[in-house]
Amino acid sequence: MSACQFIQLKAFNTFGISVCADHISTVASVESLLSAWQEAEEKEHPILLLGGGSNILFTENFKGTVILNRILGVDIQESDTAWHIHVGAGENWHQLIVHLLHQQIYGLENLALIPGNVGSAPIQNIGAYGIEFKHVCEYVDLIELKTGKLIHLMANECQFAYRDSIFKHQYKDGYAITAVGLQLNKVWKPILTYGGLTQFSCEDVTPERIFNAVCEMRQSKLPDPVITGNAGSFFKNPIVPIELAQKIKFDYPECPQYHHNEHNVKIAAGWLIDQCHLKGYCIGDAAIHMKQALVLINKGNATGQDITALATYVRKKVAEKFNIFLEPEVRFIGSEGEIDAVECIS
Ligand SMILES: Cc1cc2nc3c(=O)[nH]c(=O)nc-3n(C[C@H](O)[C@H](O)[C@H](O)COP(=O)(O)OP(=O)(O)OC[C@H]3O[C@@H](n4cnc5c(N)ncnc54)[C@H](O)[C@@H]3O)c2cc1C
Repeated sequence: MSACQFIQLKAFNTFGISVCADHISTVASVESLLSAWQEAEEKEHPILLLGGGSNILFTENFKGTVILNRILGVDIQESDTAWHIHVGAGENWHQLIVHLLHQQIYGLENLALIPGNVGSAPIQNIGAYGIEFKHVCEYVDLIELKTGKLIHLMANECQFAYRDSIFKHQYKDGYAITAVGLQLNKVWKPILTYGGLTQFSCEDVTPERIFNAVCEMRQSKLPDPVITGNAGSFFKNPIVPIELAQKIKFDYPECPQYHHNEHNVKIAAGWLIDQCHLKGYCIGDAAIHMKQALVLINKGNATGQDITALATYVRKKVAEKFNIFLEPEVRFIGSEGEIDAVECIS
């Protein structure tokens, strides 16, 4: 475990927000995670667990200890039909996909280039190009930090839903994910249902071609956080009653809508924002990306307050036009820990 005091966090959040933490610890094992947490707890410091910092917005300096999870390790086992991969929570998600592709283990390629750590993937059940984490998850290992008790949850116990899981509720505060188990079938089936992937045919497509196509599409549409600070999709796609969706479809036949369940429809949040003509709109150094209205960016020196003010404006404009209240996908972190993102922009 390594530890420092009064650390600049700009490099540890993909929004590139310049804030400080009182203290930071990098942990590479479950034991050091536990002792870093218990040390901070004894000093009554607020504690923030962080992976790649790609799904958070710091609204101010963090007056406590940030624990950076760097627990590594990839262990591959096989059964007759599947690969079973146990991965340390601190591994990088995209690098894991590249590593498995090299070993000819397939099934994650649609989720290429999603930033962040493997251990964060179950939390919001990451998803892209027709696949969600829940489709490849076998189990999630976590630890209750107060007691050191280890918990092993099978995928069907994780309450996975759209950008949601048990790790945002029952196992949120005082727990850390330490590893995940993935199960990937040996007989590979391409998923080509989404967007630019529909151009491929099941007969001759390869995992490498899907991987390359996903990387190219993402690089052409999304700003690279290394160059332009952002946290990917800022808002979740809203799930609305069928009646409201039908009314919008009547006025705007081109509105992208997706079946959610028998009562509700999912609407593309980026399309709603775009209809309000907000691409390029700025508050301070916070702006709406010119190519993808769902992405808020830091043009250089945006503060958490700038991004929050911009998100508040977007939510207000979309609500005025469509009577839909967008909710952030990004998690807001205040001086002592997570704060209610919806409240911050209401
Ligand atoms: C350019 C870009 C594109 C993106 N595209 C997508 C996409 O296509 N699909 C998608 O679903 N997401 C996407 N995201 C969002 C983000 O990459 C994912 O949510 C990712 O899983 C976050 O991982 P992280 O390690 O960076 O999490 P962090 O931001 O570090 O943490 C997120 C939350 O999890 C908590 N946490 C972190 N580690 C642990 C742990 N070990 N145990 C318990 N709690 C923990 C943190 O306290 C925080 O509340 C994108 C982000 C960016 C910047």
